[in-house]
Amino acid sequence: MASGVGSSVLVTGANRGIGLELVTQLAESTNPPKLIFAGCREPERAKDLQELSQRHPQMVIIVPLDVSDAASVSAACQVVSTRLGDAGLNLLVNNAAVNRPIPGSLAQTGADDMMEVYRTNVVGPMLLTKELMPQLQRAAAQDSESGLSCRKAAIINISTLISSIEKCYESFGMAPMYPYRTSKVALNMLTRCLSEDLCKDGILVTAIHPGWVQTDMGGSQAPLPTKDSVRGMLGVMSSLTEQHRGTLLDWKGNSIPW
Ligand code: NDP
Repeated sequence: MASGVGSSVLVTGANRGIGLELVTQLAESTNPPKLIFAGCREPERAKDLQELSQRHPQMVIIVPLDVSDAASVSAACQVVSTRLGDAGLNLLVNNAAVNRPIPGSLAQTGADDMMEVYRTNVVGPMLLTKELMPQLQRAAAQDSESGLSCRKAAIINISTLISSIEKCYESFGMAPMYPYRTSKVALNMLTRCLSEDLCKDGILVTAIHPGWVQTDMGGSQAPLPTKDSVRGMLGVMSSLTEQHRGTLLDWKGNSIPW
């Protein structure tokens, strides 16, 4: 499958789950990006990612990155910017996230849970976007294609169906998840604000729900294999246009109501 995205990509939380599969499928696609930056907070323990990087040493660059730590975000963005040189960054995928406590009832949830989840799931993507803005703008300016796309310059925020306020009643009883749900609602608003702000620079910003996926976070009951979710999301990413900016879509491209 052709990757359908631009020549440089940064994926956060790339050591396992959906992030690792995103990097794997991008690297092993028929028309892969030239550079895939794989952000992870403990590279020395990321054995699968290390193996992937060893198979594609010029393409898959492992970057130490803890998205909940502003200094780590700055340092990682410096590494990425130096490696990119004048080329610019085509795609940032804000994938890293935490979900705790489980099931996250009101009685179980404390201030520290709320703050930690918000810091990782919302502040992290905001800081990465801010730090990488010059690289995203550069990529957009260098592309003569009109309109918006993931080939040109884009930010994809990995959100979730259970961030939908309209659909909350459908899943709340099974999964209260106060910190996670509220953080992803904030991520959706960040997506919408950035899409308004950055369209003038030629940068697309869209949120995607990966489905209920067989990862550590999704758990063993999840119906969707990680490969299928990621194949679907990459297909959606490659087809995004201006009309999708500031929206929440699922891994098949269906629109999800806020
Ligand atoms: P996993 O729990 O399997 O993986 C989470 C990833 O995020 C890991 O790589 C983890 O790294 C990383 N991460 C967590 N905190 C940080 C941090 N502070 N800095 C850097 N990396 C961090 O989750 P999934 O792969 O399932 O989820 C990926 C995305 O998909 C998330 O945004 C999630 O909310 C979303 N999603 C997942 C669903 C599912 O069913 N799985 C459903 C809907 C949305 P480490 O190993 O260091 O902890």
